[in-house]
Amino acid sequence: MSYKLFIPGPIAVSEKTLRAMTQPLIGHRSTDFVALYQAIQPDLQALAATQDPVYLSTSSAWGAMEGSLRNVTRKKVLCCMNGAFSDKWLDVAQRCGLAAGALKFEWGQPIDPAALRRELATGQYDALTLIHNETSCGCMTDLAAVMAVVREFPDVISIIDTVSSFSALPIRKDELGVDVLITGSQKALALPPGLSLLSVSARARARAATAPQRGYYFDFLEFQKNHENGMTPSTPVIPLIYALRSKLEDIRAEGLEARYARHARLNQTVRAWAQAKGFTLFPQEGYGSVTLNCFNNNLGYDLPALNKLLKSKHHLVIDGGYGKLKGKTFRISNMGDETEATIASLLQSLDAALAETPKLATA
Ligand SMILES: *Cc1c(COP(=O)(O)O)cnc(C)c1O
Repeated sequence: MSYKLFIPGPIAVSEKTLRAMTQPLIGHRSTDFVALYQAIQPDLQALAATQDPVYLSTSSAWGAMEGSLRNVTRKKVLCCMNGAFSDKWLDVAQRCGLAAGALKFEWGQPIDPAALRRELATGQYDALTLIHNETSCGCMTDLAAVMAVVREFPDVISIIDTVSSFSALPIRKDELGVDVLITGSQKALALPPGLSLLSVSARARARAATAPQRGYYFDFLEFQKNHENGMTPSTPVIPLIYALRSKLEDIRAEGLEARYARHARLNQTVRAWAQAKGFTLFPQEGYGSVTLNCFNNNLGYDLPALNKLLKSKHHLVIDGGYGKLKGKTFRISNMGDETEATIASLLQSLDAALAETPKLATA
């Protein structure tokens, strides 16, 4: 059975992207590959507003996230936490044997710049992890405000996850002073899973050179050495790089400003629909994500029953809540290739399915 994904990742992939992946393979040390690699760099750098290289890692985002920790943490990393993915980053740091501290907020609350300043001022830290858009609870932190604080501490190398926000709104890496910017393929970029991108500053590479435990697969210096030759350290997932090239053409054709505006508009359309029904937004007012909405299930619907109806009758699925929010919230993605028409059709389906969905007695 085929159905369309409106969960916040992986998301629906266009026919054009899927077709791009079926092109014949090329050798990853061939001049054809070098041409492919070098051709996509300027578009990737423009998307991140950076002069730094954008490395291609054959891994899901967690590979690049874990690898970055090992490249830049010498003393102690501060993990900013406000949802499932950012919480997990602390656990990952500890599993890597790194000293790690937690700056914890409730899920759905943004990272508070003043609290961040107080913690960094203790002088213990030389690295920081932060998730721009906490997909698990639909909360988007004000990256400019946070980075203004991080820049006050020149020893701190920042690792910023933009997995579910990259290309959906402006993220000006160099202007903000972000050292390591990470994204994955299957969320905001609307590609299949398996590729992650990381743009790494010279500062972060210099730190990596002093980190003996940085390993091989995600070694920033290996990435850089190969990057200078238009290649990746090991055999990359070439079909996904074809898909990325195709997506970058789409983005160029639409125009960045139009792409940003489309995401903002469709996000508001979904939010207005839900609020008219009586649902409330889960994240703190003013910090809702632009690429998805996480709503409280305050009307007490049986969310598994809703999704069953959506899947069987309307051939689509939404998300019924992540981790500890399962059943308590639901999430609807508007990232990637969605349009006024696809979102209108989604909302029509939701109206029809909700009318048939039982409410839970306990609500
Ligand atoms: C999905 C997601 C991840 C994890 O990505 P994988 O590709 O599963 O490794 C990390 N951070 C955020 C914000 C995400 O949404």
